[in-house]
Amino acid sequence: MAATKPDLYKVLGVGRNASDEELKKAYRKLARQYHPDRNPGDASAEERFKEISAAYDVLSDPDKRRAYDLGTGPFAAGGGAGFDPNAFGSFSDILSNLFGRGGGAGQGGAGGPGAGRAGAGGRARPQRGRDLETEVSLSFQEAVDGAQASLAIPTSTPCETCHGTGARPGTSPVVCPVCQGRGVESQGQGFFSITQPCSRCGGSGTVVESPCPTCGGSGARRTIKRLRVNIPAGVKEGSRVRIAGKGEPGANGGPPGDLFVVTRVAPSPVFRQAGDHLEVEVPLTVVEALQGATVEVPTLSGKKRLRIAPGTRHGAVQRLRGEGAPRLGGKGRGDIHYRFTIELPRTLTAEQREAVERLGQVMNGNPRERLFTNGRTEQVA
Ligand SMILES: [Zn+2]
Ligand SMILES: [Zn+2]
Repeated sequence: MAATKPDLYKVLGVGRNASDEELKKAYRKLARQYHPDRNPGDASAEERFKEISAAYDVLSDPDKRRAYDLGTGPFAAGGGAGFDPNAFGSFSDILSNLFGRGGGAGQGGAGGPGAGRAGAGGRARPQRGRDLETEVSLSFQEAVDGAQASLAIPTSTPCETCHGTGARPGTSPVVCPVCQGRGVESQGQGFFSITQPCSRCGGSGTVVESPCPTCGGSGARRTIKRLRVNIPAGVKEGSRVRIAGKGEPGANGGPPGDLFVVTRVAPSPVFRQAGDHLEVEVPLTVVEALQGATVEVPTLSGKKRLRIAPGTRHGAVQRLRGEGAPRLGGKGRGDIHYRFTIELPRTLTAEQREAVERLGQVMNGNPRERLFTNGRTEQVA
């Protein structure tokens, strides 16, 4: 899929300062307009609907929105992953998102309301588990070398007592009396009728009359998922590492979701990240800059000696190729760029002052002469 990266605010037609309420309003309006039930067989409306839903998925989540605004998240214009509206899950996820309900709300396909439902047992389609996301804090060195991280991620698993049905053991969910198992209700008339997930059953087509005592009828149990993961060498601040299959388990035999680990990397006092490379500021004395010198500089694995040419200027850069951090994806290592600065003492001893005066007598050219040789040569009083 092409990595098109639309402005998510533009997708929803709101300003960057839009409040949560404004976002929700804009989203609901557009989602109704482009809803597949309203545009049967119209593939471009379906694409637009997915795009709108994907944009809202990011902007309605305060963390994702902040990351997007800062340009560090996976959805940012300069971010790593392409913008893929299909990555946000099935239509039923999008619909449950839209109407703020859990569960498999409507099938939403071009076949219209209720199409594809298998009566009260209509939830039996395999569903991929949700993705999980968490953060991990690393030292600069750990980010360079790679590290093992212990994670504790809040998640939910199907309730063990009722196996996720929400019904008290020995009973089972019954066909919803409001929608007769269709999972949807229609409002309005004719072409402009709006189909919404059933207000009673939330779209599942079934209701629990006698709730499970363990989970209170939700069918889910909140748990903490603990696991150790390998963070690859070369991650940076804000990198998003995908760990396949470690998200929430799928339902009805569907595959599990993925786990995304966002890395927070402590800054180094010496090395500064500059794209694929690292930058180090190396102070030189005036004399070293004038005469040239061999100086020791830090690398990731110890010290190296660099030869400084006589007459090295403030801001000049030397590179050590392949001495930087590993590139993610195993494509070699970046470089280290050493940027020289010339350090001037604030005060001079009597002896130094004498030496500088002596220097001034022998280095007495005027470097500003060329400022006055173009046209205007009059002496300024
Ligand atoms: Zn219902
Ligand atoms: Zn239960």
